[in-house]
Amino acid sequence: MRLDNEKESRNVEDRRGQRFSSGSLIGRGKGGILGFIIVLVGAYYGVDLSGIVGLGQEQGYSQTSSSLSHQEEGELNTFSRKVLATTERVWGNYFSQNGLRYQAPTLVLYRGVTPSACGTGQSAMGPFYCPADEKIYLDLSFYDDMRKQLKAEGDFAFAYVIAHEVGHHIQNRLGISQKTQQAQRTARSQAEANQISVSVELQADCFAGVWGYQMQRENKLEVGDIEEAFLAAEAVGDDRLQKNSRGYAIPDSFTHGSSAQRLNAFRRGLQSGNPAVCQL
Ligand SMILES: [Zn+2]
Repeated sequence: MRLDNEKESRNVEDRRGQRFSSGSLIGRGKGGILGFIIVLVGAYYGVDLSGIVGLGQEQGYSQTSSSLSHQEEGELNTFSRKVLATTERVWGNYFSQNGLRYQAPTLVLYRGVTPSACGTGQSAMGPFYCPADEKIYLDLSFYDDMRKQLKAEGDFAFAYVIAHEVGHHIQNRLGISQKTQQAQRTARSQAEANQISVSVELQADCFAGVWGYQMQRENKLEVGDIEEAFLAAEAVGDDRLQKNSRGYAIPDSFTHGSSAQRLNAFRRGLQSGNPAVCQL
């Protein structure tokens, strides 16, 4: 991506110098009643927080020690702030065109473990959005995980992941999340509830595509960037994640959608640039 002329967003909370231990935040170890409550809160807000309490680790990324150099991390820090600024512009315009004011999310940069209104955030979960505090939680070492474990490389792939999390914020702002949470509470089966989660994820991918369309128009993309994002969308599909961790895929437990579904959703937004095509 070409972001030389982009200003950095000011909606960033840098907690990288702070140290939290997961033990002190959620009590001893995994599970337990507090852990259970965190998962319930997550279910209420439509986010999968089972990873927070160690219940859903098999779907997450087993984080290896970050090998980001000091310089790399510095670059990613600036890059993430600029990407966030581009999303503020794209969604700010869309909201004002519709007579609404866009309240941007805050990007929290942290290392390892950090508290959130949705429970304890851990880098092993990958980046996530918490609707309760309207913050995106990102450990920059995810870039390294993406590169090593998911084999998705490049700055645009990383930007796409941020744009996807912003997509969840858009859902929250537009009241879509509230409706889907309601639908999930009344779902008749786990499979049906999962199906709703999948459509929520695919819509966030589509919103990321809408952002991508604008980046394309502003000539901020470089050759190969779109392919990069496609690879990232593919790499973070549930079928890939599950195959990597368990060796097989179980469609009913998918909460993010398959790689092909994610690719399609992203492409839909990217080709039209119109959020209206991102209906659930
Ligand atoms: Zn998501």
